[in-house]
Amino acid sequence: GVRLRDVRARYGPDGPWALDGIDLDLEPGRRVALVGPSGAGKSTVAAILLRFLDHQGGTVTLNDRDLTAYVPDDVRRVIGGCPQDPHIFDSTVKENLRLARPDASDAELRASADVARLLPWIESLPQGWDTPVGSHGVQMSGGERRRLALARAVLADPGLLILDEPTAHLDPPARAELTADLLRVTRGRTTLLITHDLAGLDAVDEIVVLDHGRIVQRGTHEVLVRQEGLYRRLWTVRQGAGTAGVPLR
Ligand code: ADP
Repeated sequence: GVRLRDVRARYGPDGPWALDGIDLDLEPGRRVALVGPSGAGKSTVAAILLRFLDHQGGTVTLNDRDLTAYVPDDVRRVIGGCPQDPHIFDSTVKENLRLARPDASDAELRASADVARLLPWIESLPQGWDTPVGSHGVQMSGGERRRLALARAVLADPGLLILDEPTAHLDPPARAELTADLLRVTRGRTTLLITHDLAGLDAVDEIVVLDHGRIVQRGTHEVLVRQEGLYRRLWTVRQGAGTAGVPLR
């Protein structure tokens, strides 16, 4: 379990607080969505959990031990991200997936690609799994790169999976498909889903609404959508936009 209490963080010694006293519990097997407008502090939470940024106030614990007491690389073995724009190495599809877990068997690689629905694409390639990708090989689309990142995350199987804006910059049909797959894949996994796209959030256990570095609301979609507040305003804008998954930026 990961616990944040009264956490404050900023990017410079005199800068404004990017996070200004937040409490968050990430319990085993639960999915929490962190939502809010651009600049609210969502990615800063991910940066702290992945130990790219140290918090300046409050406490962050991983299994009841202070997160800063762990070596960053050890933390990243337990808390895993699924980056928006994952790095694609100049190598084959297989090697690009295998780096998430070098001892994975071919069957495990195949299973993770299947779960992430990357398998039809791999099988359509001229040399299948051995096809070179990256700058000297087949170029991958945005959606394929996200699915590779998801397959890597499934293969690495971290104790806490952080998905930071997993569907950003995809067109609406691709976004809807990937959202459905993410929700299916993360069921039963401890997950922090960071998003400004409110699609599918009725499936998560808790939604935490951030604004200007503070938590302004928390609850389920069902409850929040009935309450006066930022979540309902964001939801209304989204409904009014008419197209599922229109970004709220
Ligand atoms: P969100 O993910 O909700 O869009 P961020 O966590 O990226 O929000 O940003 C929170 C605040 O921190 C914003 O005011 C943003 O400008 C600031 N910020 C984010 N990253 C940096 C950075 N690398 N350097 C300085 N300020 C940053």
